[in-house]
Amino acid sequence: MTLPSTPTIVDYPTGAVTSNGTVLHRETLGADRAIIVLDRTAAHPVDAAWPDQGPDRGTITAGGTRFPLLDCVVAATDGVALFLGSDVPVRKGTDGWTFVVAHLVDADAAVEEGADVQVDIDPDYRSSLSAGHTACHLASLALNRALAAAWSKEAARDALGAPNFDALAIETSTILENGARDEYRIGKSLRKKGFGTAALDDLAAVQGEVEVTLRAWLAAGGTVAIERDGDSITDRREWVCDIESGARIPCGGTHVHSLAELAGISVRLERRELDGAVGLTMLTSVTAAA
Ligand SMILES: [Zn+2]
Repeated sequence: MTLPSTPTIVDYPTGAVTSNGTVLHRETLGADRAIIVLDRTAAHPVDAAWPDQGPDRGTITAGGTRFPLLDCVVAATDGVALFLGSDVPVRKGTDGWTFVVAHLVDADAAVEEGADVQVDIDPDYRSSLSAGHTACHLASLALNRALAAAWSKEAARDALGAPNFDALAIETSTILENGARDEYRIGKSLRKKGFGTAALDDLAAVQGEVEVTLRAWLAAGGTVAIERDGDSITDRREWVCDIESGARIPCGGTHVHSLAELAGISVRLERRELDGAVGLTMLTSVTAAA
């Protein structure tokens, strides 16, 4: 049983929903699951380092039999053991460590080391996550712009030049089917950086501004692409969207290919009072073009 020393080649950034690969490693996980590591895969794994987009749904076909993919997670090995998800003790790029995609299947699944297998991803579920993820990035940029006047000091700028509220205040981001849920926290440190929470007093107005911006971007129907330094899971990837002067955001997820695929994006903002801070939730929903 040999643990891989090269990172998994990933096909999902191009939008692929099928891949053919070889089983490099198999080991059991607990009583009822097995971990399968392939040389390449179309399956998007959840990354515990920033778990915004969850695992793809799909199957692995080996020897003519289809086995359901029960989960798919970013894993890493030092050559001695394989660590899954939040058990990975190092960051990507750490010397001596190899990052891979771990496919979880039933322990009884006949997917053996050395076998040539095919991965098939549920295309509808993937499409709904890709639409949700693109909408999430657009909504965050539109929110940054709507809140730009709330800043009394110079702040880090986003991909379109607005103060980057999203990056500075985000706590969790969850990509949903045809949507996303972003949780922000405005605490003492953000207020010290110059963000005035009075900007959140009239959320309906902020929401309206965000939606006006989103409508204009969708109407222009720009292209969306993932640019990457290489095809392995650890290569740096960026979401590149043809809106205004062009936006780039580092991102490991999947996306639509054009804003023309999206008919409309709406957002709902909710405010909560936390202990010494303000919580803001942005729920984004997107409808696909017919
Ligand atoms: Zn992203």
